[in-house]
Order: sequence, then structure tokens, then C-alpha cells
Amino acid sequence: MTPEVRPLIAGNWKMNGTRQSLSEIKMIAEGVQGPLSDKVDALICPPATLLYVATALATDSPLMIGAQDCHFATAGAHTGDISADMIADCFGTHVILGHSERRTDYRESDHLVKLKVQAAHAAGLTAIICVGETSDERDGYQTLDVLMRQMEGSIPPDATAANTVIAYEPLWAIGTGVTPTPADVGVAHAFMRAELGQKFGSEGRTMRLLYGGSVKPANARELMSVANVDGALIGGASLKASDFLAIYSVYDGLTA
Ligand code: PEP
Repeated sequence: MTPEVRPLIAGNWKMNGTRQSLSEIKMIAEGVQGPLSDKVDALICPPATLLYVATALATDSPLMIGAQDCHFATAGAHTGDISADMIADCFGTHVILGHSERRTDYRESDHLVKLKVQAAHAAGLTAIICVGETSDERDGYQTLDVLMRQMEGSIPPDATAANTVIAYEPLWAIGTGVTPTPADVGVAHAFMRAELGQKFGSEGRTMRLLYGGSVKPANARELMSVANVDGALIGGASLKASDFLAIYSVYDGLTA
């Protein structure tokens, strides 16, 4: 945790979920209405097909709803894409950008991610920018170099603590059940905090830094207790309301 920084527990549903899964969002929306909502934020990013109906379901809840990607243009001939304005039009508040699956599957570069982040900011959205090393890069002791390069290339100069969240997601930890040790997460997050502080001053010192990669109810308390870890980006375990809420609840009693 970072003192003075409000944690965020965010779920990335990826290409999972149909209308039937809306019952999980409803349960999450209800489950985050307790006293913990005064100090922890909760977000679910369903596929775009469910975005509008999900925001409608969460209207009376502190649960926020976001998207998983956007185009850098506001509109135009970009078949299959959605714009940041469209996400905002559906009452989405956040958008995940530069997720490793997009960087890998669609060869998204840091520069493209930066353009998307700027589009998200222009539409009034908070961008969750994902960074993280491959297992080869980790084995070659390049983790911090990769983080520096990706942050340098993907975070635009207008980034603030309000409009930008950074998620450290080591690629080898995503969907594998394997996580870095808390000590390794601590080293990566301390490095990112220092870099952000140097570049963005007080905004960088309070920008939220999430950890992502195989976060589960069983390991969440340990990972969320690490210095400079201000929440989690959760894939698989966010699909079930009970798991998501169990992770969210670890903040009960956790202090910086
Ligand atoms: C993710 O893809 O953002 C992620 C963290 O996935 P998982 O929690 O399933 O490892």
C-alpha cells in the first residue's frame, strides 16, 4: 500500500461473459456497498458487449465499470474497434490499455498505447496502463529495464494520479497460477514509484500502482500488503463474484 492512496481492485473479464454473467456483476455491485467502499474502489471491465448494461446494473453501487481497450481515434473507419468516447457514452469510467495480450496478439507498441491513453484522457476516462516483463526478460535480469522502457513509452506527459493507473503484470504470472514473491513485487513497485515520482512529481508519488498476475483470494492479502501496491488487476478470479469480493475484502483491516 501507499499511504494516502486509495486502493483499487479491478477485474479484467477479457473475452469472457455473456448476458448470463451479468448476475455476477450484480452480486459484485451489491457486495461492494458496505463500509469498505469508503476506502477501496472496485471496478469490473467486462467485454464491450456488456458494457452498457453493466453500467446500468451498477448505477446504485460504488462499483465502477470500464472497458478493456479503445482506439486512439474518436470515430471513423476502424472496423471492429470502439473509441474512448463510446466507452464514456456507455458510462464507463476506466479503460485497460497496453494489456500484454494486446501487446502480443496485436503487436501494440508503447507508442500506440500512449496514443490510446491520450484518447482515453480526452474522453474523461481513467487509463489503466499495463506493463510487465516476459519470463525470458526476467531470467535475463531485464525486468526493471523493461518497466522503464514501457513506462517511458506508454505514459503521456498529461498523466495525473486521477486519470492514470499503472498495472505491473509480469507476463509469466498471467493466468499461470504462479506469482512473483512479495519481495520481487516490492522491488518492481518501488522502482516504478521512484520513476513516476521523478517524472510526475507529487502526481507520480500518488498514482495508483496495481499488481496483476494470478491474484486469488488465497494470495491477495500478502500481495496487497506489499509497499507501493495499491490494489490488483485480476483476470480469472474476477469472473466469480465470490472470488472478486474475497479479494476486495482483504482490505478490511489492512493499513498502510
Ligand atoms: C490479467 O490478464 O490482467 C490477469 C491478471 O490475469 P490473471 O489474474 O488470470 O492472471
